[in-house]
Amino acid sequence: MKLVGNSVELSASDLVGFLNCPHLSALDRAVAKGALPKPKVWDPLLEILRERGAAHEQNYIEHLRKAGLEVARIDGVDVTQQEIAQTLAAMTKGTAVIAQGALEHGGWVGRADILRRVEVASALGAWSYEAIDTKLARETKAGAVLQLCLYSDLLAQAQGIAPEHMYVVVPWSDFEPQKYRFADYAAYYRKVKRALLQFLADKQDEQTYPDPKEHCDICRWRVDCDKRRRADDHLCLVANISKLQISELKQRKIPGARVGTVDKFQGQEAPIAIYSTATSSHADAPRGMEFLYSLNRLNVATSRAKCLSIMISSPRIFEAECRTPRQIQLANAFCGFLEMARTLSL
Ligand code: SF4
Repeated sequence: MKLVGNSVELSASDLVGFLNCPHLSALDRAVAKGALPKPKVWDPLLEILRERGAAHEQNYIEHLRKAGLEVARIDGVDVTQQEIAQTLAAMTKGTAVIAQGALEHGGWVGRADILRRVEVASALGAWSYEAIDTKLARETKAGAVLQLCLYSDLLAQAQGIAPEHMYVVVPWSDFEPQKYRFADYAAYYRKVKRALLQFLADKQDEQTYPDPKEHCDICRWRVDCDKRRRADDHLCLVANISKLQISELKQRKIPGARVGTVDKFQGQEAPIAIYSTATSSHADAPRGMEFLYSLNRLNVATSRAKCLSIMISSPRIFEAECRTPRQIQLANAFCGFLEMARTLSL
């Protein structure tokens, strides 16, 4: 995402980023506006994947060259007027393969890995182009197809006709492209595009929150988002809590009730304290028995109540199979609580 004058210039990675997480689009817009610095995340694994991706693209280009096809490479990494003009010149000439072709229309830009000539008439002449992306993933992701949809859309503007197909080439395929029909994905692509433009126009980016997503593991913003969730004591920090439980708790807001991890309630009191364990048994505890049965945490969870302390959990949590004296000591506090409590089965 780039600010050009008063408008935002968007690319395929902005479209895919929005599909993965609207908060990511909000942070990227803040960078474009100069309100935030670019995140500095260096992940050696992602670096290796990037290098392998570049090598795979290069191998595919060599494969096409060996097949006798003329290849024109558009240098650079951005989409400047010069690179767009070079791409259009190569398309007008009818070059068989254009690597890293730069395209632009209506505030959207893209650099397709490969533009391949097909013998379908267009405004260029008796030929036109279709987009190919080289990918490493075993299973083609929705984002890869959306990316190709943007390139196909931009190609349609450049050559006056929408390409019929778009392709993904993966490493183990002997360079045999996987074929996707643009029309089968185009309406959904346009819907995501409209949603992103609406999101930016309505300034919804000012209200997003970094709720955890599948994409967080590889996101360049993960360090900042994690810091913010910790500072806010976000519910995702409750061990084993599910997305469904978080959204139920958010939706069923009880007036005056405070919800958070046990740690958040250190030093606080309330008439009623409800302690709900997201983990069902000691065997499921992702952070081990020491954490689940921690005496300090049980103490905070149950002693903050002035009148009534309620614990909601699976009965299996009281059936820990202890192998060491330390484990008995940990489970002992829960068993003591059970002896004092009135048990209700739901
Ligand atoms: S780290 Fe997760 S929440 Fe934050 S921007 Fe990335 S995907 Fe969104």
